[in-house]
Amino acid sequence: MLTEKGSQKLSDFTEKNSHENYVEVTKGIWHISGLGHSNAICIEGNSSVILIDTLDSFERGKILLQFIRERIGKSISTVIYTHGHPDHRGGAGAFIESNPEIIAFAPITPTLAKTAMLQDIQNQRGSRQFGYTLTDEENISQGIGRREGIAYGEQRAFVPPTTLYQQDSVVREIDGVNLELIRVPGETEDQIMIWLPDRKVLCCGDNYYGCFPNLYAIRGGQYRDLALWLQSLDKLAAYPAEYLLPGHTAAVIGRDQIQEVLLDFRNAIDDILTRTLQGMNLGKSADQLAAEIGLKPEYAALPYLGEFYGCAEWTVRAVYSAYLGWFDGNPTHLHPLPPREKAEKTIALMGGIQSVLDAAKKAFSTEEYQWCLELCDLLLDAGQEITEAKILKASALRVLAEYETSANGRHYYIASAKELTE
Ligand SMILES: [Zn+2]
Repeated sequence: MLTEKGSQKLSDFTEKNSHENYVEVTKGIWHISGLGHSNAICIEGNSSVILIDTLDSFERGKILLQFIRERIGKSISTVIYTHGHPDHRGGAGAFIESNPEIIAFAPITPTLAKTAMLQDIQNQRGSRQFGYTLTDEENISQGIGRREGIAYGEQRAFVPPTTLYQQDSVVREIDGVNLELIRVPGETEDQIMIWLPDRKVLCCGDNYYGCFPNLYAIRGGQYRDLALWLQSLDKLAAYPAEYLLPGHTAAVIGRDQIQEVLLDFRNAIDDILTRTLQGMNLGKSADQLAAEIGLKPEYAALPYLGEFYGCAEWTVRAVYSAYLGWFDGNPTHLHPLPPREKAEKTIALMGGIQSVLDAAKKAFSTEEYQWCLELCDLLLDAGQEITEAKILKASALRVLAEYETSANGRHYYIASAKELTE
């Protein structure tokens, strides 16, 4: 979201939440945060270690392996992936020396066929969202964890699972540790949680972490089903956990605290979904609803629901397009003018190119940065390769980055500004 001192708030959140921590939350169970972009969990069995997630890079995986050797002194018999995102699997190659079983769940519905055709744009938008081209000074935060290792030239080392479950739940006993692996679709279709009934430990992957979740990723992707995510959060809350170990941010300890956090998190998502659907049912457009619906102040004030990664406004738009598609119901938009024609006509009506450029400069000087962007886009949409408009747009993007609380949004603004002035 855009707000006064947005980047300062993001920095403060990061300062509080990104420290390297190796916490033995209960005997023989370690929650490791701040070493990678994502967390890892080590569970000590009778003669080996069960590792949940592997950090984001081979190099960081090696550091974790060293820690396991020194502090636990047992080899790794099992690796469990909470889901398929690369920041949780990228370190896997560091742990294969002991030839572990590697467990994951298959997604319930596959990605859209031919998605591979979008590889170039997905890579470009992913790079902008994650801020790969940003300097450390520009990349003040990765939102929910330390900056990814690949930004520093580290390597991903993916290893495919050796055991891939298709079912919804599995009960296993591994090296004296009882585990229940349960499918809980949310951030991804293949997401699972791991419940240790004897220890009251719940590893929830990315279905909960300590800020507003990324219900829509601006890098682009298929709909993250909010209604299913809510069901998954209800499932999580139904377990009598004393230790909640998320895939990002700190562990939550204590049954009452866990229940409170999960309920707030769940209700905040439900509130956005419900109000969006209600507004849609009244005939409102995605633009209208995105302007009207935000995170309610009682949720926004909670330390674990800040919009430092996901953003409520983008969620509203994602819900709209998932349920009603691209058409907002206004017949004017059934066959709109092509962008260039519309821009040319609008510019002419506004008094010509110089007049629009002057207005864009004025908007910048009066701190109306979004309006400045929209005026610059008129010129660029009209095919006017005006260097001044590009520089002005880049400047406005950089200022908006300072208002943006979401690390993803901030990166996207700055990366795009860099591309404009390259
Ligand atoms: Zn993650």
